Order: sequence, then C-alpha cells, then structure tokens
Amino acid sequence: MTYIHKTISDLKRSSPAQAEFYQAVEEVLNSLGPLLETNSHYQQQAIIQRMVEPERQIMFRVPWVDDNGDIQVNKGYRVEFNSALGPYKGGLRFHPSVNAGIVKFLGFEQIFKNALTGLPIGGGKGGANFDAKGRSDGEIMRFCQSFMTELYRHIGPTSDVPAGDIGVGAREIGYMFGQYKRLTGRYEGVLTGKSLLAGGSLVRKEATGYGTVYFADYMLDERGDNLQGKRCLVSGAGNVAIYVMEKLYQLGATPISCSDSSGTLYHDSGVDLRLVKRLKESQSCDLVAYLDTYPEAIHTPIADYPKDGNAVWRYAADAAFPCATQNELTLSDAKALLKNGCQLVSEGANMPSTQEAADAFIDAGIAYGPSKAANAGGVATSQLEMAQNASMQSWTFEQVDQKLKQIMKDIYVRASDTAKEFGQDGNLVLGANIAGFRRVADAMIEQGV
Ligand code: GLU
Repeated sequence: MTYIHKTISDLKRSSPAQAEFYQAVEEVLNSLGPLLETNSHYQQQAIIQRMVEPERQIMFRVPWVDDNGDIQVNKGYRVEFNSALGPYKGGLRFHPSVNAGIVKFLGFEQIFKNALTGLPIGGGKGGANFDAKGRSDGEIMRFCQSFMTELYRHIGPTSDVPAGDIGVGAREIGYMFGQYKRLTGRYEGVLTGKSLLAGGSLVRKEATGYGTVYFADYMLDERGDNLQGKRCLVSGAGNVAIYVMEKLYQLGATPISCSDSSGTLYHDSGVDLRLVKRLKESQSCDLVAYLDTYPEAIHTPIADYPKDGNAVWRYAADAAFPCATQNELTLSDAKALLKNGCQLVSEGANMPSTQEAADAFIDAGIAYGPSKAANAGGVATSQLEMAQNASMQSWTFEQVDQKLKQIMKDIYVRASDTAKEFGQDGNLVLGANIAGFRRVADAMIEQGV
C-alpha cells in the first residue's frame, strides 16, 4: 500500500461517516502523489497525518426562542483547521445539511485555497444546521446572537476571523458582529463581509463571483480565447451566482441559467439579472416567480431532474459556472456538458464537481478551474478587509477590484506553473493542490512539531 493510500485508510478508520471530508482529502492527496512519493522529507515529518487532523474543533449548542415562544436548539460548529500561514480564516455556513463532516471538508479545502492566494491566512470553517427558510427577521437575529454568544470566546482579529458562506450574508454578519461587540466591548475586525458602515470592504460582496469569472478569463486567455459572446450555464442564485452573472455580462458573455432550491431556470436569451436580484435579495422568492415576467423561460423543478444529475447541466453552452453547492455536478452531468461542446468550467461553489466529474474534465483537456483556485477571490478580499481594518483605512472600489484581479491572476499562474513543473500542463487541480500544499507544509515544518 502506498503512503497516500495508507493515510486515507487510517483516516477513515479513525472517524467514520464523514464522506465529504474524505472526498476532499482524497482529492488533495491524489494530486500530491508526484510530490510525496519522491520527497521523503514530508513523509518523515508526518506532514499529511498532521494536516488532516484539525488543530481544534469546537461544537456547541445554539438555543434560541422562535416567534411562537418555543425554544429551538441547533448544533453550532467551528473547525480551526490550520494556522501555519496565519489566523484561521473561513466562512460560516447556516444550512440544514451542515454537520461535523461537512464543516471539516470545507475547513480542509479552505487551508489550501487560502494558501494559494499567497496571503497570510490559515484555514477554518464553521456553521450550524439552521434552516432560515420561513424564519422571520427577528428569529434570524436571535439565532445569530445565540450562535455568537458561544463563538465569541473562540475568535479574534488575529486568531480566528469568520465570514459568510451559504445562508450567511451581510444581515447575519451584522447581527453576529453586534453581539460580539456587546459581549466584548470591542469594535474590531473579527468578522469579514461586514457592511460598509461596520468597517466592511468594497467589493467583498461581489468578490467570490467576480473572482470566479476573472479566473475563467485567465484560463481562456492562455488558450488565446476570451469570454466575449460565450453562452454560460450558471447554477445557484445566491451571492456567488449573482455576481458571476453580473461579471459575465460586463465581459460580454451571456448567462443563460441559474438555480435554487425550487429547481433550475433556463432563459435562452439571457437571464434578467435585475429580476433575479430582486426576487432573491429583497423578497427571498424562489425562481418560479421569474416566469410571471418571462413566460418563455423554462423552470425545471428538482423532482423532474435526471436521476443521475442536475437539469442545469443538460443544456448546451460554451462554459459552466457551478455556484450552488458541493457535488452538484455528477459524472453524467460532466459527460452531457462535454458532449454539448462545453469548453470551460470555473467553480464558484466549494467542491461542486464530484471526483469523477472533475476527472472527466481533466481527461477531456478543457479549461477546468477547481474551486479552491477559482473561488478564492472571496476569502482573498476578506483578507483585504482585515488589512483595511487593521490599518484603519478604506480603499476605493477600483483599488480593491484591482487587487482582486491581481490575486486571481497570481493564483492562476501559481497553479498553472506548478502543473507544468510536474509535467501535467493544464491540470489545475494538480497544480493548485501541490502549490497550496507546499506553502502550508513548509510553514508547518519551519514551526516545529
Ligand atoms: N465562504 C467563503 C469561502 O468558501 C469565504 C470565506 C471568507 O471570506 O473567510 O471561501
């Protein structure tokens, strides 16, 4: 058995039933073969065994009172995974699917994503199995306050700096920031994704989506192509998908789909982004309501999805931007995309393609930007927010956007050059994983056991 296979099987024995976490670990470790099997230094340092074990995992009770006066209890999590490169950094996800394994997978991905940005940030992630659907603003506020009532003692502007993720946007960050301030008496950059009034950064809201499109543009540029005139499938309708669509329009491409928990919306002449923003941001409506304005658009409910995949990937397009959630793009979806002529996939969500789907894209030789490279613009701009908070400055939109573009370019070059170094030109999965891993591993070794 190889060193890598042994590490994976030891891990599965020690904490069973965390499928997404193992998937993320295997994805990274499989890429590290060319580095690890030849470099005994990392093996002697037991670097993988150390890396797959979080430095600290916090699990806590989140009790709160709903609008009927009934007491509800949720499970809260924060995984402080790796601080070799800087304070733990990563979002909080509030969604019913959140459990210890999901948070660990997201935290593990975050380590390498953050390393790849070249910025001084470690990896962490957190969240709760809270379902905001149908909850009033007051209920969401009380939930956020209760969550922070436990979390505040574990975080700090130079130790652990959470941000948003699925189900956590500016409103939730605002309620949590208010509670942190109430409990500690300190006004400091302990969360990112804050509103501008609370010291947030311009472009942070747009950053994950914009960055995913900038990354796509760099991939195409190397192939002598660009986004102009490209028809693009997008999944999701949250913060990432909305700003992917906005930047696609700005660069002359046409997003023709999006999706939410009601199903997939396809609009052949291009999604009306203003309408989607209005439906999702202000009224929290589902996408079915889009048909009231555009009866010619097609809405496919989840119940009618193909049994082996997702309706959104079955349309013909030049490019795909999965921006909803993990494992939303299966091998059958990948085959359908490739058969229909898709030339580029840039991942806005975290690990949206299954391992088999990702392998199919790499084997086909299309431009494939894995999430830990393509969606790193969000966390990178969070670090820019931390820098502004620490120096008591606020930069203009253009200044932050310029830095974001440069960071995305650096990430692309780092991943692409590393792939070339290991004789796998164009394999950005391998390039991103090795480049991220090397920074973290070398920092861990420098800092001793
Ligand atoms: N949740 C985002 C991610 O997956 C952003 C994290 C952050 O800004 O800390 O990278």
